[in-house]
Order: sequence, then structure tokens, then C-alpha cells
Amino acid sequence: MFDLPPTLNQCIYCGTTDGPLSDEHIIPYGLNGTWKLAKASCRDCADRTSRVEREILRNGLGAPRAALGMRSYRKKRRPTSFPLIIDRGFGDESVSVPVEEHPAVAVLPRYASPSWLESHRRSTGIEVVGASTVYFGRLPLSDFVKKFKGTRLTGTVTYEPTAFARLVAKIALGYCAGRFGFDAVRNAYVTPAILGISDDVGTWVGSTEGYRLALSPQPADRVTHAVGTDVLDGDIVAYVRLFAWAVPDEYIVVVAPVPNGHNDPHEQRRDQPPRST
Ligand SMILES: [Zn+2]
Repeated sequence: MFDLPPTLNQCIYCGTTDGPLSDEHIIPYGLNGTWKLAKASCRDCADRTSRVEREILRNGLGAPRAALGMRSYRKKRRPTSFPLIIDRGFGDESVSVPVEEHPAVAVLPRYASPSWLESHRRSTGIEVVGASTVYFGRLPLSDFVKKFKGTRLTGTVTYEPTAFARLVAKIALGYCAGRFGFDAVRNAYVTPAILGISDDVGTWVGSTEGYRLALSPQPADRVTHAVGTDVLDGDIVAYVRLFAWAVPDEYIVVVAPVPNGHNDPHEQRRDQPPRST
């Protein structure tokens, strides 16, 4: 854990201090995130960011979240079964499978490296180079296949790679605001992409390989996310791992230039353990 700042009283996205400000979860509440920035998002920015978050949590990660018993604001409306495409020898069929038996596969996109790190140039969109598929189901996969007498399962990913990258960027920005204060993110590169104002998310967000957080989560701790930061070439970067116990992929986000006169955004160096929640 890290010490959260006192109430921010300022929107971490647009900087406004006016109007009602809501608390901001750094890692979504729906992913069991516990870090919260008090009074840190204005209504307009909260609308924009929560739309993306909802899409990812409900569609792409709906079944894994249900299987892991993760929190939800609307527990009663949570589906108790999820669709699955299965081939039992007669072609693809869509079947509805209860949460307890669902394979609850999560697909996390793997991106190209942020273009800013390669060339210090902005680019549009984001390039997907692969994906990690992770099985979160309670039933061993072989039992599942036996039970449904299937020969082939087909999963579908229903979220936009861009939306997922915006969510990763939002986690990185919130984390840096919490660790280093609003000044560190006042001129953040990623803010327009997070808010959907620019389409340059791949400039700032990407996957990183071979430079993983030194984290060995306990298997019993089914939900662990981790974030670390460093400074690269005068920029604050954040490393984000979701489902860190299960998913090897790590994202890197170029968050903001190191502000002038800012003493120590280095405080949490790459070679130090990340903060996990
Ligand atoms: Zn705002």
C-alpha cells in the first residue's frame, strides 16, 4: 500500500476545482481496487472515464469478474450466466453457461511499445500485436469440455483495444496523481486520450517486455494488481499489471513530463517493488 494524499479537491483530468468533485478509484472498484483519491474528478470527466470503464468491466471482463466474485456496484443486475460459443460436432452453437461453470476467460491485449518511447512522435490509434488469454473458471477446463461434450470453444472479445488502453492510462494517471500530487500530472500527455478527446493513446500506452515488476503474488490472493513508476528520458512512466498473479503482461504508460522543480518523481524507482493492491 502507499499513503494516499489528503483530499485533492481538484479534478486530476481537467484541473478544475469548481463544482462537485467525486472520489476516484485508481484501479476500478469493479476490479477490487482499494486506492481511492478523495474529491479528484469533476462530473464531466467522471462521465467520460466511467463510460470506458463500464464497457471493459461489463463486456470484456464480465465473466472473469463474476467468477472471481469481484465487486460490483450493481450486484443484483450482474448476470448469473454468460454466453459461450461451443462446437459439439454440429458447428458453432451459442450456449448460456452459469458463472460457476463458465471458463471465464479474460483476453488482455498486448500492444506495440508506446511510439513516444521509440521516436518521440505522436501517432494515432494503437497497435495490437497479440493477446494473453487467461482462464479464471472454477471448473478445470478439461471437466468443462467433458461436461459440455465440446470439441472446440470460441471466445469473443467484445471491447475495443483503444478503450482498454484508455483504462490502463487512467490507472497510471490516477496512480501518479496519488503518488506525486496534482502538479506531476497537470500537463500529462495521456489526459486527452483518457477523456477521448484525442486518438493518440498508442503514443503513450503500450506493452513492455523483459522488464517486469519483481512481484511474486500469492496464488491464494486471487486479485492483485500492481503499479510502479520510473523516469525515462525526462518523462514519468508507470508500469501497470492487472491480475498480476495470473497475467504475465505488463503495460507501460508515458504519463507526463517530469515537472520543472519537481523534486523526486523518482521516489519509486523501477528496481523497487511495485505497490500492489
Ligand atoms: Zn474534470
